[in-house]
Amino acid sequence: MPESLPAELVDLRERLEAFVEEIRPLGAKLDGDTVPDEVRAQVRERSKELGFFGMTQPREDGGSEAGPLAMVVARETLAAANTPLARYVFGPDPALLRRAEGDVRTRFLEPVLAGEKTWSFAFTESRGPNAPDKPTWAVRDGSDFLVTGKKSFVTGGATADFFATMVNVEGDGGPTGTAMLLIDSDTPGVTITRDFRSMEGGGHVELQFEAARVPQANLLGAVGEGMPRAMGNISEERVASAATACGIAMWTVNFTTKHITGGPEGRRLADREGVRLRYSDMRIDTYAARAMLYRTARLLESGDDAINEGAATKVFCTEVASRVVDTAVQLVGGQALIVGHPLEALYRRVRSMRLAGGASDILRLTVARGIVEFDSGRL
Ligand SMILES: Cc1cc2nc3c(=O)[nH]c(=O)nc-3n(C[C@H](O)[C@H](O)[C@H](O)COP(=O)(O)OP(=O)(O)OC[C@H]3O[C@@H](n4cnc5c(N)ncnc54)[C@H](O)[C@@H]3O)c2cc1C
Repeated sequence: MPESLPAELVDLRERLEAFVEEIRPLGAKLDGDTVPDEVRAQVRERSKELGFFGMTQPREDGGSEAGPLAMVVARETLAAANTPLARYVFGPDPALLRRAEGDVRTRFLEPVLAGEKTWSFAFTESRGPNAPDKPTWAVRDGSDFLVTGKKSFVTGGATADFFATMVNVEGDGGPTGTAMLLIDSDTPGVTITRDFRSMEGGGHVELQFEAARVPQANLLGAVGEGMPRAMGNISEERVASAATACGIAMWTVNFTTKHITGGPEGRRLADREGVRLRYSDMRIDTYAARAMLYRTARLLESGDDAINEGAATKVFCTEVASRVVDTAVQLVGGQALIVGHPLEALYRRVRSMRLAGGASDILRLTVARGIVEFDSGRL
């Protein structure tokens, strides 16, 4: 545990660890990663009773919104427990909908927080020969926009009630630029053109918009605010990913420790010097990643700008988790590659973390741009 955490965060971690142990038997009965509705409901109800459920939700909407440092402690602890039930502990996260106002708040944010509607983030553009020659765009038509374009990777899109869609507003009759438009999934002209799964088990869709008519009243914020809205709490999201990565690295190091120290002394894997070298690298990497994670979390907690540090932390921690899991697979050997082995599942999971939420090399460019163009970024 990184030192000097206040007593209430040490307590939070211990309470979450106890909760995870309480629900773990439910996880043991699962068939793969498929979690039946009644098990999800059970986890959610108990999480509400214990006060964890509302941690991702604003206080003004009845949540118990926790700060960045508390969320890091919570996410890392849950990931270090390595249970598929962890994802049901927190309630719906409003993410970029958080700052919705007026009618958009009533029609979109409030039903999301109440668990009555789900939504997906439609940001990444399609590429390739069948993709439009420009990013998804919107033109005004009376009080509506007509939206055209293709989004390639929309997580949870098959069951979403609406899509928070990044568009570029063009043409006459008002301001132009990027905008975040909330588009109901049953809007004529909106089609799911592909429904697919990625290697870590997530479900996604490709979406096509063909002059889909969307009321201008569905704008989240104003035209020109699309990119800032999309990036609104990007540092928190990147640090959330880093916290999960560190939790995975911790679970993996602990698993490997047990593996290499098992058996009679003198014949354990840990008795071989070469194994110790690889194992030490896992610990050194994880120690460095956690130190970075908690430093960045403290920057966010203080309210300081941490765009560059958030990007750097996401890159480093997800790459560390990948290296750590990869080394663990090597040390455990062929058994670790059998489908259903916990390391096999983690191997697939950590691989996708270096792309989801920002590809590592794109974030490296963010870090360099921060200093070269904005003279911003700490060492
Ligand atoms: C599990 C998962 C869930 C996702 N969920 C969503 C979602 O809900 N909504 C959504 O909108 N998207 C989602 N995505 C998409 C994800 O955000 C993108 O895959 C990611 O941002 C990379 O974009 P891309 O796939 O278009 O790759 P590209 O932008 O084409 O980049 C591919 C690679 O090219 C290289 N590259 C590209 N440009 C440069 C450059 N300028 N300099 C150097 N190297 C470069 C990098 O190595 C990069 O990794 C998800 C992805 C995954 C894996």
